[in-house]
Amino acid sequence: MDLIFAEATPPGRGGVSVVRISGSGARAAAEMMAGPLPSPRQTYLRSLRDGDEVLDQALVIWFAAGESFTGEEVAELHLHGAPVIVRRVAELLRGRGLRAAEAGEFTRRAFLNGRMDLAEIEGLGDLLDAETEAQRQLAIRSAGGELARKTEEWRALLIRAGALVESSVDFADEEVPDDVPDEVFVLLNQLVEGLDQEIGGFPAAERIRKGFEVAVIGPPNAGKSSLINRIAKRDVALVSEIAGTTRDIIELRLDLKGLAVTLLDTAGLRDTGDVVEQLGVERAKQRALAADLRLHLSDDGSIYQDSFIDGDLIIRGKADQAAEGKGLAISSVTGQGIDQLLAEIFDRLSDRISGAGVTSHERQLNALVDARQALVGLEDLPPELLAEQIRQAAVSLDRLLGRIGAEEYLDVIFSSFCIGK
Ligand code: GDP
Repeated sequence: MDLIFAEATPPGRGGVSVVRISGSGARAAAEMMAGPLPSPRQTYLRSLRDGDEVLDQALVIWFAAGESFTGEEVAELHLHGAPVIVRRVAELLRGRGLRAAEAGEFTRRAFLNGRMDLAEIEGLGDLLDAETEAQRQLAIRSAGGELARKTEEWRALLIRAGALVESSVDFADEEVPDDVPDEVFVLLNQLVEGLDQEIGGFPAAERIRKGFEVAVIGPPNAGKSSLINRIAKRDVALVSEIAGTTRDIIELRLDLKGLAVTLLDTAGLRDTGDVVEQLGVERAKQRALAADLRLHLSDDGSIYQDSFIDGDLIIRGKADQAAEGKGLAISSVTGQGIDQLLAEIFDRLSDRISGAGVTSHERQLNALVDARQALVGLEDLPPELLAEQIRQAAVSLDRLLGRIGAEEYLDVIFSSFCIGK
């Protein structure tokens, strides 16, 4: 593998900018500027030089191969955070034949060198993307290898069960009774239970990772845009007194006590002759039905039956203008009921994340489902076929960790990583 480098901190001015170099010769590349750096994992404060010219005072560290993030020899230069310094250092490194790293290339090397498994890498990607506390908590579990640890436990059960089956196959050759020991099924049942629990926790974990969608629906002029503006405390939706102007679905992303929530302002649901508006109405309806929760907003607490799903919230808007009706009374003008509404939304959504597992990507889920599939209904199989099912389950678990079949996912996963990660 060639020697690569990249700025690991965001481009632009800052306190420090970190340039990372990875590959065999990383230490020598750093020493070219900094002079001798005898020990790994030690910080050296050095003048970085281009020939006789001093470029910067920097902290320099290097890590030996096998003891770094990428698994290769790595050097880090902690420069003063001025783009011109980074530029000069980059020119020097390029001049010495180093190549600028692609997005996610350091992490890709960490994977190829066995420093991280695929599930950990997905977790790391989620951690870098995390916007809310719940997302951070979930991502740090995956990035820290929780799924890998569970998978290793499951694999250990499989190996034990497989060995027991194999030994009964061997006996069969010697015409010793070829009953599969009961312990095999005890082990496999335990495994299926563990898989079921993780699979069952997927929808909740995926919701945490991707965030919830909450649609505000109601007739034109019910005050949907005003409500969203009130929540945003800034203008994100067009508020107008002419009915039917909100044709596009407007999204507001919220951090609701740690949950990522996207509020959708849908077009007013009403019958209309206007083709463009009708399209908007149809799209709004579909999107609203697909959302995790709907807020039915109207002046009198009425709802659209065909868009109502159990657990939805009924809100009566414009409470400052009175009018009686059912549902939670709110006013986007005075702010009445808004905090209560947010608390209600949070309660309903947080109910849905209890029991969240650490599996939050469909790729991971598919591997778990495949493994489970291989392990049910085996009671009457002859030992040879049983052993084959167990092998298949092990292959699925290997896929989960990317030990096999990772190539097709790597490009997709790393495309969302930054340069320098
Ligand atoms: P949308 O079509 O459902 O998005 O409704 P808008 O948010 O555009 O509001 C329609 C009209 O109702 C506007 O004139 C708003 O100023 C008004 N409005 C919205 N919410 C309230 C409220 O809570 N109280 C009062 N008095 N007027 C409101």
